[in-house]
Amino acid sequence: MNIVFVGHVDHGKSTLLGRLLHDTGNIPKGKLEEIKERCRKNSKAFEYAFLLDALKDEQSQGITIDTARCFFTSKKRDYILIDAPGHIDFLKNMVSGAARADAAVLVIDAHEGIQENSKRHGYLLSMLGIKQAAVCVNKMDMAKYSEKKFEDIKKEFSAFLSKIDVKPKAFIPVSAREGDNVANRSKKMNWYKGMTLLQTLDSFIEAKKLDKKPFRMPVQDIYKFTDLGDDRRLIAGRIEEGSVSAGDDIIFYPSLKRSKIKSIEMFNSPEMKSFGSGLSTSFTLTKEVYVQPGEIMCKTKEKSAPQCGHAFHANIFWMGKEPLVANKEYKLKLGTAKTYAKVKSVNRVLDASSLKVNVAKLQVDRHEVAECTIETIRPIAFDAISDCEATGRFVLVDSYEIAGGGIITGASKNGRPELKEKVQMRDIKWVKSGIKASKRLAKYGHKPQLILITGKRNENKIRIARKLEELLSNKGYPAYYIGIRSVIYGVDSDIRSAERYREEHLRRFAEVLNILLDAGLTVIATASDLHEDDIEKIKTIIEIHKITVALVGDNYFVENLVDLEIPKDREPIDAARTILKYNNVIKK
Ligand code: GDP
Repeated sequence: MNIVFVGHVDHGKSTLLGRLLHDTGNIPKGKLEEIKERCRKNSKAFEYAFLLDALKDEQSQGITIDTARCFFTSKKRDYILIDAPGHIDFLKNMVSGAARADAAVLVIDAHEGIQENSKRHGYLLSMLGIKQAAVCVNKMDMAKYSEKKFEDIKKEFSAFLSKIDVKPKAFIPVSAREGDNVANRSKKMNWYKGMTLLQTLDSFIEAKKLDKKPFRMPVQDIYKFTDLGDDRRLIAGRIEEGSVSAGDDIIFYPSLKRSKIKSIEMFNSPEMKSFGSGLSTSFTLTKEVYVQPGEIMCKTKEKSAPQCGHAFHANIFWMGKEPLVANKEYKLKLGTAKTYAKVKSVNRVLDASSLKVNVAKLQVDRHEVAECTIETIRPIAFDAISDCEATGRFVLVDSYEIAGGGIITGASKNGRPELKEKVQMRDIKWVKSGIKASKRLAKYGHKPQLILITGKRNENKIRIARKLEELLSNKGYPAYYIGIRSVIYGVDSDIRSAERYREEHLRRFAEVLNILLDAGLTVIATASDLHEDDIEKIKTIIEIHKITVALVGDNYFVENLVDLEIPKDREPIDAARTILKYNNVIKK
């Protein structure tokens, strides 16, 4: 279990750590005597903190400047104690995932009382989402072991902590120097009936073992077997939490595609039946589904699903040379997912070196931690950091460098509306044409419909589409051909970047198609490289109209969404006639 010790300088953190190690027998034999002897020779008063320094080999520096760890074992379990005076490194490590504390001990000097810094430390814990904490009121010897002094501090500090949603498990009056209530119960404070520091540490609840947590595997890649006649696909990734077995029902987020694990495959090793966290592996599925790298694979049976959406609340530690500003686009990497994201609002900013909190800042400077709301361009799946470490953490990239690390504290309801909601809103706001659809039908003699031609790039699609338009027009259909390019360079001229805004290009393209269909036309549209989810989106947008999906060239779809396959070397006229036949426009 990892425990971080925080507190104002000189309030006795290192002494407390040294004392704890000593009183629990975690100091190597002879070390104490060796240091005492050294102190005597140098006419220096012995400090328990030296024990710690000696262990860390940093005695010369007087104070520890980096996040330092020491190991310690109680009767109950092993601990890593993190001494964190260097806030910048500590915050960076905590937010980036290099270090993680399960609980915190906050040290306050009874003599000096609560300092501004003590409050900032409390706030720090709340920002890092550390839920378990204990407060040691130290140097009780200097406060004459006064119950009143202790109670006053406890009252004032509890009131502050409750405001920031930190509920300490215990307030413990201790003297690190004298060893009161550290590992041994104090005889000088009989009025205190609570736990010692050691008992408190042992009472903290351990995080569940990763294997026992709900299954999470961010999809790294999808491979295809290349052996002749073998068209199985492998879904590959690293199992972050939980475990799976062949036969388990699974679901991918955010696409919500479902399937079942057929087999678990490992390169160069015999077939395995089940697998647990920390391992990279790949799966074959009983039913092929279209999923993309970046999705999170989960088990259907497990209740705790990741959240999906465009927006979440996060605490970001910023390291970038340029400040983090609202509404600028950054690349966001979360698990294996990559997308672009903007900070929609900066709520509170904490200076990591002074720990000062600023609620009025609009940007986040280097070495500041900020509570923000993030909005992503694409919907993504994520967890709150308290639910899953690996999928509750992300980095922001600015100008090709990692400029910030963040932990997700929860989903935000104020994200952009999902596609379905957008379509609903459009339908509500749509001012209908004065001419009824039935009247148009009577005039044209044909219901509006969409023939969507896709396939890899440069596969003759446009020539086929134009031929089809000609043939349909000759037959009296109100045919109209449109390629996605016409939309990208017109309607979409504000968002050129094809890669970054792929989703939005597609959405607008489908909206344009929808208008043409509403006008009663027989629309022939082309767009390269459409996939299952693209087709589903287009179908959501054009809702009520009939659609035929024709695919030119290799069929790369894994789900059955293609109505018609057309070989890539087929003459446009023949291909167009095949489509007409499929739609019963011509007989042979
Ligand atoms: P840190 O900066 O929080 O790590 O504080 P240190 O552990 O270095 O302690 C600062 C000073 O307070 C040192 O001189 C310690 O000897 C002293 N100190 C620490 N704990 C106690 C205590 O319980 N009682 C008394 N009287 N002095 C203490």
